[in-house]
Amino acid sequence: MNVYNFGGGTADGGKELRELLGGKGAHLAEMARLGLPVPPGFTISTEVCAAFSRSGAVPEPVKAEIAQALARLEQAAGAQFGGVENPLLISVRSGARVSMPGMMDTVLDLGLNDQTVEGLARVTGDRRFAFDCYRRFCAMYGGVVLGLGDEPFDEIFDARKAEKKAAADSELEADDLAAIVRVSKELILARTRSPLPDDPRLQLAGAIEAVFKSWDNPRAVTYRKAHNIPAAWGTAVTVQMMVFGNRGDTSATGVAFSRDPSTGEPGLMGEFLAGAQGEDVVAGVRTPLPIAGLRDWNARIHDELASWAARLEKHFKDVQDIEFTIERGKLYFLQCRSAKRTAAAAVRFAVDLANEGLIGKDEAVRRIEPSAIEQLQRPRFDPAALKAARAEGRLLGTGLPAGPGAAAGRLALTPLAAERMAPDGPVVLARAQTSPEDIRGMIAAAALLTSTGGLSSHAALVSRQMGKVAVVGCSAMKVTADAIAFDGRALREGEVVSIDGEKGDVYSGAIATIAAGALSGHLATLLTWADGFRKLGVRANADEGAQAKIARANGAEGIGLCRTEHMFFGPGKIEPMREMILARTAEERTAALAKLLPIQRRDFAGLFREMAGLPVIIRLLDPPLHEFVPHDAEGIAKLAASTGLPVEEVLRRSAELAETNPMLGLRGCRLGITYPEISTMQSRAIFEAACDVALEGVDVRPEIMIPLVGDARELEQQARLVHAAANAVFVDRVMRVKYHVGTMIEVPRAALTAGEVAQAAEFFSFGTNDLTQMTFGLSRDDVGPVLRRYQEIGIYKSDPFATLDRNGVGELMRIAIERGRAANAKLELGVCGEHGGDPESIALCHELGLDYVSCSPGRVPVARLAAAQAALKR
Ligand code: ADP
Ligand code: MG
Ligand code: MG
Repeated sequence: MNVYNFGGGTADGGKELRELLGGKGAHLAEMARLGLPVPPGFTISTEVCAAFSRSGAVPEPVKAEIAQALARLEQAAGAQFGGVENPLLISVRSGARVSMPGMMDTVLDLGLNDQTVEGLARVTGDRRFAFDCYRRFCAMYGGVVLGLGDEPFDEIFDARKAEKKAAADSELEADDLAAIVRVSKELILARTRSPLPDDPRLQLAGAIEAVFKSWDNPRAVTYRKAHNIPAAWGTAVTVQMMVFGNRGDTSATGVAFSRDPSTGEPGLMGEFLAGAQGEDVVAGVRTPLPIAGLRDWNARIHDELASWAARLEKHFKDVQDIEFTIERGKLYFLQCRSAKRTAAAAVRFAVDLANEGLIGKDEAVRRIEPSAIEQLQRPRFDPAALKAARAEGRLLGTGLPAGPGAAAGRLALTPLAAERMAPDGPVVLARAQTSPEDIRGMIAAAALLTSTGGLSSHAALVSRQMGKVAVVGCSAMKVTADAIAFDGRALREGEVVSIDGEKGDVYSGAIATIAAGALSGHLATLLTWADGFRKLGVRANADEGAQAKIARANGAEGIGLCRTEHMFFGPGKIEPMREMILARTAEERTAALAKLLPIQRRDFAGLFREMAGLPVIIRLLDPPLHEFVPHDAEGIAKLAASTGLPVEEVLRRSAELAETNPMLGLRGCRLGITYPEISTMQSRAIFEAACDVALEGVDVRPEIMIPLVGDARELEQQARLVHAAANAVFVDRVMRVKYHVGTMIEVPRAALTAGEVAQAAEFFSFGTNDLTQMTFGLSRDDVGPVLRRYQEIGIYKSDPFATLDRNGVGELMRIAIERGRAANAKLELGVCGEHGGDPESIALCHELGLDYVSCSPGRVPVARLAAAQAALKR
């Protein structure tokens, strides 16, 4: 079976046939099955698309099935396709398995020719309406099926409007529309050297082929690439009886959402346009009215729409995006699908639907893309900068808020310009309206701005899905070829604008942005649910109190990595560090370290207070020492002055520190082994701080981590120093604090000899940045050009420094975990590389059975969600 009927009392299948019928066809059938008023029709399956792609023709047996389905449709509609008495008009619609808004073609009003149009005029008693349909058909068939594009037909229409001095489309009369039809047909004949087909059956065949072909048009291909949609899926074709929103002023068309897709608020949302056909709303050429206005226009229809919308939402267990048309006071449903939504709305929908009992909490957690959480933490305008911009009168205009977040960027007026300019910094793409051809420019732009169209226009839909900042329908703005103008102020391409996708405001010049605030409301609830499902702990990588505070607010359960070297930068800290590095004798070094100790102690104490009751892993000094030595003349002179050494001596000593390959040189535990005073000083600072803070009544849980271990004896040697320092402090202070000593696993040899290493370690923390670097033999600081080439030709599928390499690095981890646990059953295991915040890597960490992941403080919420999703996956 290749053709599936729906409506008029039957439905061959429903939502379960999405792969065959496409989302649109499957849901039309499902709505018909549920008893919604759906115009009857049939859907040709996606399998025919594949056959068409192969052979360039619709197979004969399928043609026979189509003829049969058409006969059934005529019966259900009570009208004849191509009949003059009572002509049936149909639409031919595209629809893939997943919705690709506006990417493929749809043709409306098929079935008209010079004879049937008269029949339509007679049965409807409305000649103007009949010719309005006819001129729409000519334009769509010519534009889409014959490939002439919309413009020539728009020009004909606008020329007639100008000639008649008509302000609105509705002022054109039947004869004007008939004249438009004549000119359009002449244009088609001249451009294609053959007349517009008169025979409705030829029209239908042409439209079906055009829809199949549109699966492979460049904009659809670009969209597929951007969204990872396989070319093999294909599109279905739905053929459906036309219903007419353009049939006088008791008719209308619109788009409704069962809840607000921008904010997530409950209650019917949407827009409608009286006296219009569907494409008028979606194209964004006319700005429609908010759905609340439908209540005044026709309260009965409003309520009917609202109650079906609620019913659909319950049935599909998700918020719906609905196309409807009202023909002379009767409501019809033309499409329903899961609504595209902003990240904020996605979270609110999930939480609300779970609270309403439509879905479980596990499902709510599953539904949120981890990237949505990142979107929610999008920048907003810095309130002070915003206030200043307003005071300076830089607010240019306000449109509809269509994509949240705030952005500043250079103005691009064409998609091509946006693509060209994007590599040099953020771009705001401004258009009268966007169309699917603009897709590449939209991907390149950071933000979108349009002067016409509503919240269901193409620009709004696409930006919502791509997570772009967007303002649409900013009617105060005039867009011309080289500028946008607001009430006398013009901005040219390349000038900077700032737009607020939350409020809809547009400003001239740049306004500084700031990161989003703390977790609250629905997001906080969702993450609490996520915490209930996850097995992995989530910690943060933080070096100081302020970062730890953010981490804790984001839900971190400890610090997985404090990089002590970061503490040495900053005023008053780097000088004694440099003295220590240039020291020639142990005495000199100890003297310099004595100055560093109180600085470190203070920083550690800050961390311990912030992380009361939670573990804090502090890593001893890791990077090669020469990184701390100044390399410029001024810095060297300063260092000479502060150490009292001659400049030449400073230069000589720092040259001695230079290494050919510092990444594999004197760094990590090798430093502490070469200069034991460093490890001793750092350990003392940690234990003194721990004692100090413990005396304040805080529950302190220090854990000391030794970096870059490749041999168990390295760890044993360093652990002895740590224990000795601890004992010295405890004796001194006459008190004890519980602590742990463990190691990074970041050298492949440590992973392979984990059985030995684990005997001296209470915990392992996989330093996956270094471990990846050393496993691949690829420097993470020089990886750029290699990676680009490798990903281009498919040697690496993804960047191994962003997503853990399952087969290589992952395998080393698996070995280390197995051997480590076998040697030490109480061994605690975690990850502290940046991978700890990457959802796919987190899933691998869950599978490997780690105890926790640790990532930057800002990614903690993402990690909490990703860890829960990993646990919920079977
Ligand atoms: P898209 O996938 O681009 O939204 P559609 O197939 O949904 O394309 O159709 C484009 C517009 O035409 C929509 O507004 C739709 O509601 C309208 N439309 C499609 N078929 C019919 C029909 N049979 N009667 C009335 N309007 C229709
Ligand atoms: Mg549609
Ligand atoms: Mg490392």
